[in-house]
Amino acid sequence: MKEIKCEHCGFWTNGNLVDCNYCGKRLNDRHLTEIEEREQIELRGMPLLKIDPDTPFIKKGFLRVLRFLQLIFFSIISMIAAMASSTVH
Ligand SMILES: [Zn+2]
Repeated sequence: MKEIKCEHCGFWTNGNLVDCNYCGKRLNDRHLTEIEEREQIELRGMPLLKIDPDTPFIKKGFLRVLRFLQLIFFSIISMIAAMASSTVH
């Protein structure tokens, strides 16, 4: 069992738990926040379409498809960029 020190109360507790056994606060708080921030930055880096929660259902489906195509487009572009940088020296 992996034991980790709670950064809130300082007790050692089961590292597999989400919340501390002693104070009930979230373990790995810093770590998780870091991951969330990184994901947000990655998402922000990609100029994807924003889907408004008020958008009608049909239009929402259409926007999802558009966003999916955008994702494919971006992955192709980055693939080409990676290939170009690996062949050109
Ligand atoms: Zn604690």
